[in-house]
Amino acid sequence: MERLLIINAKALVGVRPKGLRSVPGRSMGELPHVADAWLLIEDGRISDLGPMSALADSMEGHRVIDARGRYVLPGWCDPHTHTVHAASREEEFVHKIKGLTYQEIAARGGGILNSANTLRRMSEDELFVKAKARLERMMAQGTVAVEIKSGYGLSLESELKMLRVVKRLKEALPLQVKATLLAAHALPLEFKDDRRGYLDLIVNELIPQVHRDGLADFVDAFCETNYFTVEEMERVLEAGAAHGLSGKVHVNQFTSIGGIEAAIKHQALSVDHLEVMTEEDLDALALAHANGQAPIPTLLPSCSFFLRIPYGPARQLMDRDLPVALATDFNPGTTPSGNMNFVLSLACIQGRMLPEEAINAMTLNSAAAMDLTGELGSLTPGKRASLIITKEIPSLAFLPYAFGDDHIDTVLIDGTPVRSGAAIA
Ligand SMILES: [Zn+2]
Repeated sequence: MERLLIINAKALVGVRPKGLRSVPGRSMGELPHVADAWLLIEDGRISDLGPMSALADSMEGHRVIDARGRYVLPGWCDPHTHTVHAASREEEFVHKIKGLTYQEIAARGGGILNSANTLRRMSEDELFVKAKARLERMMAQGTVAVEIKSGYGLSLESELKMLRVVKRLKEALPLQVKATLLAAHALPLEFKDDRRGYLDLIVNELIPQVHRDGLADFVDAFCETNYFTVEEMERVLEAGAAHGLSGKVHVNQFTSIGGIEAAIKHQALSVDHLEVMTEEDLDALALAHANGQAPIPTLLPSCSFFLRIPYGPARQLMDRDLPVALATDFNPGTTPSGNMNFVLSLACIQGRMLPEEAINAMTLNSAAAMDLTGELGSLTPGKRASLIITKEIPSLAFLPYAFGDDHIDTVLIDGTPVRSGAAIA
């Protein structure tokens, strides 16, 4: 058996009992920890942990990491990304600086359709190599699990191509990868005058085939004015459910059109974005949560930062006791960053989340938003030893406070370093 012992940690953070699915909003300010502690890893999983005063002598002789002055946290779980994409879009970025809106850029043939055009031309191998490099950077930044969406293919063949790339990434990299079919991301030009035809293609062909080939864990739809209607999203969610794929949906980014209630009705796993929320939307989520079936509200602060749009109402959601999650939304158009550490700073600075709340939102709650809570998201014996060891920092709040700097020393995935810093030397 392979054993690795971390000793002298300044604190183990996010120590939780088995079986906890998520942290409800009003408890998110609590982040249970053990100070001056050790943690034992056996065969890639956390097997035990405790204070240094209770470290048995028999532990000596194991391979040891001395984490003096350092915090040990569960690795970041990023439950909403578009990491497989063909090319960056910094020309649009410059257009935006000059004053064009996201909708105006989309109307000019930019936006999602721009990404779809370049992706359709790119080979599967090239897509794989590019996405793999992005994921390797994200792992070095502490991300140990990621959800990746299709949605730049917008045709049967190209959507399948994207999902095959995600499957190869799953096999090639140690981090946990979940795949989501997001064919309803934008209406492709070929179907400009035939919305129903495109929805039929998704529902009658794509979803059954994706299910048959085991290419996706979830389905998604961009439910938004000028994109897909609530009824169209409902068709996607129904077809997904019929094939065992739960929903993770883009709703309430620019407008509130009833997507939240529909997502609740169809028992979606998460509702993502939420920059524009009415009182009714918030109440509907709170009621569903009280009934034990609320989708996880997932906020994407880097997207708000990049687009200069309002931030999702983290405080209001937490006040209603909802288990808020955070994700990057890494994509070339609206969030060209897969860095969860920046999300942590933004969530605190702009979203007014406490550091503890934001860390809960990026670990256990974000694991829940991709159905990985039994494996990741807390320091719990039995879970995967996918951990962050920080540099020597004065306090946990220093992580979001000293924004833009890199505070991570070492990252382990299933007990194996994917980034080795001074703690391991
Ligand atoms: Zn997105």
